[in-house]
Amino acid sequence: MEKKAIPFVRALYALVFAIGVGLSVTLYRDSAILNEDTVKYLDNGIAMYAGIAALRGHIATQESILYEYYATTGSPVFKTRWEDNQRAIDDSWAVLSNQFGRYPRTDVVTQVIAEIRSLSGALERTLNDVPIDWDRAREILEQVTEKSLIASTSLSTLSDDLQQRMHEYRNQVENRIGMVNTSARYYIGAILVIAVLAGLFLSAYLSGVRERQRLAMFVEKNPNPVLRLTRTGDVEYVNPGAWATLMALGVPAEAPLSLLPQDVRERVRNLTAQSSDWAHWQYTVLGRDYEANVHWLRDFKVFHVYLRDISERVRAERRLEHMAFHDPVTDLPNRRRFLSDIQTSLELGEQGAVLLIGIERTQRIIDSMGHGIADRLYQILSRRLTEIVADFGGGYVTAHVYRYEGEIFGVSLTNPATSGTASQLAMDIVTRFGDPLLVDQYELFLGASIGCCHYPADGQDAISLISRADQALQQVKGGGGGFHAYASGLSAAARERLLLENHLRHALERGELSLAYQPQVAFADGAVAGVEALLRWEHPVFGSLPPGKFIPLAEETGLIQPIGEWILRTACHQAKAWREGGMPWIRIAVNLSARQFITRDIIKTISDALNHSGLPPQYLEVEITETLAMQDVPHSIEMLRDLKALGVCIALDDFGTGYSSLAYLRQLPLDRLKIDRSFVCNIEQDAGDALLVRSIIDLGHNLGLKVIAEGIESQNQYDFLNRIGCDEAQGFLFCRPIRGAEVESFIGQQGDTSGKRMPIRLSS
Ligand code: C2E
Ligand code: CA
Ligand code: CA
Repeated sequence: MEKKAIPFVRALYALVFAIGVGLSVTLYRDSAILNEDTVKYLDNGIAMYAGIAALRGHIATQESILYEYYATTGSPVFKTRWEDNQRAIDDSWAVLSNQFGRYPRTDVVTQVIAEIRSLSGALERTLNDVPIDWDRAREILEQVTEKSLIASTSLSTLSDDLQQRMHEYRNQVENRIGMVNTSARYYIGAILVIAVLAGLFLSAYLSGVRERQRLAMFVEKNPNPVLRLTRTGDVEYVNPGAWATLMALGVPAEAPLSLLPQDVRERVRNLTAQSSDWAHWQYTVLGRDYEANVHWLRDFKVFHVYLRDISERVRAERRLEHMAFHDPVTDLPNRRRFLSDIQTSLELGEQGAVLLIGIERTQRIIDSMGHGIADRLYQILSRRLTEIVADFGGGYVTAHVYRYEGEIFGVSLTNPATSGTASQLAMDIVTRFGDPLLVDQYELFLGASIGCCHYPADGQDAISLISRADQALQQVKGGGGGFHAYASGLSAAARERLLLENHLRHALERGELSLAYQPQVAFADGAVAGVEALLRWEHPVFGSLPPGKFIPLAEETGLIQPIGEWILRTACHQAKAWREGGMPWIRIAVNLSARQFITRDIIKTISDALNHSGLPPQYLEVEITETLAMQDVPHSIEMLRDLKALGVCIALDDFGTGYSSLAYLRQLPLDRLKIDRSFVCNIEQDAGDALLVRSIIDLGHNLGLKVIAEGIESQNQYDFLNRIGCDEAQGFLFCRPIRGAEVESFIGQQGDTSGKRMPIRLSS
């Protein structure tokens, strides 16, 4: 509406002006004509009235002259007067009849005048006859009188007609004046309506203009930079906010354009060309990120550019973006980026290889050197890996390194030069990871295991490619380093694993699982203090399978959850059953696996097992390995405290292999340390191990814990441990793991013996 306002208002005024001029001219002309007509008409009418009166006088005079002529019998004086009067009659009539024009009643007057003239002639002749015929003369005079009367009547009628005509003309004038009046009224009305409309329109328009002018004032107060540009992109005005910004950035105040994008003129030109009123720009100048809202102000024919420094926001966004796709410790692209890069490459139809690199022994090093080393270790590892990959191939292939998870790194190779490229790189990595790594002055020997697969041959999507590479990695992992490429079809080992997994799924329901119990005896009196429950799998075809073979499988597949529950229930019931069979209460130790220890479900599982069996909690002991407890110490502390709250005992299994820090150990609510078998079996030959075992016992006692040694096979081992103050013993020297029913007879037998030497009871 605003755009059309001015032409519209102009058009209205032009219209008003045109109507005004037109009507003024018409009115003036009409009244002038009317005036002229009226004057002419009135003059004419008055003259005619006078003419009629005069003619009537002349005719009466003529009559009296004729009478006097008769009385004086033709005196020449009267003849002259008659002739003069006759001329006056003729002239008057000539003028009058001319004024009336062709009018029927005038004929009567013309005729009467002619008849009076001829009667006058007849009278003259009669009076000039000798003798004078007086009768004839009187008769003529009577006729003259009669004609004069007719003339007078006719002239009266003409006078009436004239009056009628004047009346009509008056009416006509009245009408014409009325018409002029009416058109003047219409004109005034029209002018009023137009004036009101234009007034309303103008006031709306002016208030719009005022509002825009008021808004334009805000610019001055705005703390952010605001610039006013001409339509060619020249700076016309800069607000105080912009001066302040320029000053803060150390830019000379004469260069306000440096706050705008370099191609600002072109941008402004484009806006004008597209006749758009608004634009939003985001750009970087002077090392800062800006957002500009550009408005075209039509009333002023300028652009207002409102700037906002969004550097902080942009930086935060970039940081978030970076964090989403990078590992915080090594700053390498993370697993998500790995997957998406592989997926993109697949979608582009490229060929490539996916490598999963597991660094060996990292967990062990972290456990022994403390968690503080972990981040540095992974950073050094990532640097070495990145170097090896960068050195490789001299840029012939595109290779990227990722942190996949934990100690596993990923490498993607795009468009490898040959099919052997991936294995060359893998061998390079394996070889160079054979060299020691220097971390905090320690030389560490690690080693890399690599699984690899190729696309598109080995898979059509990122997830399956990574899982294939992982399958290949599992083939070599744990062996201290090596490389394996995924080959379609499974390897023999993988096939066996799959087969075992299938059987394990049904082992529980088919009753193939059972528990064996290995007694633990006290050095003090040789009495059985407890037993360790150990899982056994008796397969109808494969025979008895060692737990070392199927427990890791149960862990990986998650089958350990139901199996673990079953173990806890069975062990608790067994302990309760022994007591009910007349045996004293003995402690029963159950091993917890890593997967069970991660979730809090285990707390409920244990308390349910205790509740169902009715076993007092102090007779249940849970064993977790030192390595597992040290993996996530805060979590372990929390879990162990909750377990402790149930009233159960806690033993730290395989102690000595995990290099626990004393500080951590102190925080764990433990009851028992179990010295790992590997130290026990060497104490006779290895003085170092003997020393270690001694210090473990001291340490345990200092912490107020009992210490138990497992894997005692010889009398010497037993004697040594007894000497150095170990509390309890477990091993083949006393008893192999045996059936539940055998435990009762073992204890019965045990009861008879006293002294330090334990009988060796080998179970079959
Ligand atoms: P572990 O917890 O260290 O269990 C002790 C292992 O040492 C048992 O092997 C036991 O038979 C063996 N052993 C005991 N005394 C001697 C000895 O004098 N000489 C020798 N050479 N070995 C001895 P087993 O039963 O084969 O179990 C191996 C591992 O499997 C266990 O090590 C434990 O980590 C795991 N495991 C066994 N049963 C369970 C279970 O019920 N649950 C969980 N989570 N893990 C279990
Ligand atoms: Ca154990
Ligand atoms: Ca152990």
